[in-house]
Amino acid sequence: MFNNIGRESPNYIQYLLKAIWAIKIPIRIMEVCGTHTMAIARSGMKQVLPDWITLLSGPGCPVCVTDETDIDLACALADLPNVILASYGDMMRVPGTDGSLMSSRLNGADIRVIYSSNDALRLAVEKPSCEIVLLSVGFETTAPTTAITIETVVKEEIKNFSVLSLHKAVPPILRFLLLDPELSIDAFLLPGHVCTITGADAFNFIAKDYSRPCVVAGFEPVDILEAIFMVLLQQQLQQPTIEIQYQAVRKKGNVIARKYVEKYFHLVDCTWRGIGIVPLSGYAMRDAFGGLDARKKYDLPVPLVKNTHCVCGDILKGRKEPIECALFATRCNPASPVGPCMISEEGSCAASFLQIQKGK
Ligand code: SF4
Ligand code: SF4
Repeated sequence: MFNNIGRESPNYIQYLLKAIWAIKIPIRIMEVCGTHTMAIARSGMKQVLPDWITLLSGPGCPVCVTDETDIDLACALADLPNVILASYGDMMRVPGTDGSLMSSRLNGADIRVIYSSNDALRLAVEKPSCEIVLLSVGFETTAPTTAITIETVVKEEIKNFSVLSLHKAVPPILRFLLLDPELSIDAFLLPGHVCTITGADAFNFIAKDYSRPCVVAGFEPVDILEAIFMVLLQQQLQQPTIEIQYQAVRKKGNVIARKYVEKYFHLVDCTWRGIGIVPLSGYAMRDAFGGLDARKKYDLPVPLVKNTHCVCGDILKGRKEPIECALFATRCNPASPVGPCMISEEGSCAASFLQIQKGK
């Protein structure tokens, strides 16, 4: 829709803002991606948009949506003798019902921070007498790399490696939110990176079945402004469809990456933190590769849920703003987070906290 000439110039941004202000339609737009949430907070965008536009943060950060009980499972695995749990750094401080990976590590569990699933694979090769468990999180963007690592493990017949898959799929959670009669989301800014894999077509149902405008948005503030303008035009013309603002995205996505994922995973019902069980929204390993599935390989306890008074669930559904949480910026802050939305940089509570600090 737009060409790239002078897109970052102040004149163009002012032009976009003027165009946005000219369409006076009250609208609640959910940005699904955590990186969008951060870009919106960092740029102070909400302050320059008209107040009839409400931007809601969706369940777009894989750390925020990891359920407490899944953290408990990961801690239980790490506590097993001879097991090394390989985890991405941003999972370390996420609270479970009782403790976190960080507290487990302080209590003696062997947990290594990795930067890619290949690091976990390397650990398995270097330490053949230990069992390596890869704690894998993320959406459609990261599931293919985990699948490729599993492919190597299978081919090279590595026996001391397994995966605790907490991967989740984005289209089912959006359908779930749309089906909730208490939520009013008028439109979506779709996650650019996820769509490079799924393809924009995977989200056609939002316009087709639920008549909501959607735009696949890039990650710069100017991309997000363009996407908001595109959403407003769709709403004004009452022609909901799915448009692509982020040039890296194709309608069909990355077929090869999806094939890898389909080979090793299938979709199952899965619990999203604060939201509950969402049908067919989690990637579990296929039975044929059960020996590589940490849930099957180890006899894990079923953890109990505890009420922390964190309202992340309502925030992730766009029902509440972070400042509506009684714990926001008091008992819960980035130095001492209670809920996951305050832990990850991309979490909506952390983003709101940052915004408030900047405004002081
Ligand atoms: S596109 Fe990237 S940053 Fe955004 S939700 Fe997906 S994984 Fe996270
Ligand atoms: S402020 Fe903290 S406790 Fe409240 S919803 Fe956000 S993360 Fe949860």
